[in-house]
Amino acid sequence: MTPLRQGFEGQEQLVRGENMPELPEVETIRRGLAKVIVGRKIVKFESRDAKVVRFDEKDITGLKIEGIDRKAKMLVFELNGDKAILIHLKMTGQLIWEACPGETEFCLKKMKSPSTPFDTAQGGSLRANQRLAGGHPSPDWVAKLPNKHTRAIFSFDDKSVLFFNDVRRFGYLKLYKKSDLGHISELKKLGPEPFSKEFNTEYLIKRAERIPNRKIKQFIIDQEIISGVGNIYVDEALFYAGILPTRAVKDISKTEWQKIVKSIKKALELGLKYGGSSEDTYVDAFGNPGTMNDHTKVYRKKGQPCGKCGTKVERIVLGGRGTHFCPKCQK
Ligand SMILES: [Zn+2]
Repeated sequence: MTPLRQGFEGQEQLVRGENMPELPEVETIRRGLAKVIVGRKIVKFESRDAKVVRFDEKDITGLKIEGIDRKAKMLVFELNGDKAILIHLKMTGQLIWEACPGETEFCLKKMKSPSTPFDTAQGGSLRANQRLAGGHPSPDWVAKLPNKHTRAIFSFDDKSVLFFNDVRRFGYLKLYKKSDLGHISELKKLGPEPFSKEFNTEYLIKRAERIPNRKIKQFIIDQEIISGVGNIYVDEALFYAGILPTRAVKDISKTEWQKIVKSIKKALELGLKYGGSSEDTYVDAFGNPGTMNDHTKVYRKKGQPCGKCGTKVERIVLGGRGTHFCPKCQK
């Protein structure tokens, strides 16, 4: 290995450690929290860090959580009174919900399946010391909270609490008028959601015409082109589509674009099914690590035989990101 290559490897390690949760991860957290806090009234809100919480405590006290939406990799807590909280977990943000605050022992690690809280939330009784968490996994998942990483605390009318923890403080909570959400900069420049009808072959071809020499992987990973598709899911999607990540977008045929659209959805659906990837920063809202990594075809499979043809999976660095592909199945 040449020193230059080592340099690139080192650089990528840095990036890799700072991976944000991806769309399936954030969606999994959203679904988990939706079961326990939608319909709840915020009886108290405590801000412990003005850099992270960009509004006054009193601005949301007494309001009710009417819904939880996801925009790309951000969460939106919809409140009554035309208000909405935009939450970005960034690299080390965590959302940890606790049924009974102050307990020192809880069942986070004992939870085997997400079906348990789903079931209990639909009629059964919640276990007294239940805790749900999502975002960056760290000892805070099982620590007594609040602690020094706690930046905000929501207290609800059923006595449950939601902690926003963030070691590095890049995450944030911002308050908007619900009706203004469409105009704010974080959301305005995002490309369409991969499961929306705006995301289709014609759209991708139109975008590709403007940047003909962009490599297909870097094209797909661009959040302004498609929302929420990160490194794992791009590599997997391009494997399903049989397309090399280094191809220029101008050389992709219409049939191949159709395959790309289908493959991106397929990769994300698998991510949702398995609760995302746990390798870097992610555990689902019930404390279960995602298992997507057990189901990848090429991602992080360098040197292993391709499941389809047996050829060794290769890895290159593209735009600073580790990129995995089968040199035989992908053209
Ligand atoms: Zn292959």
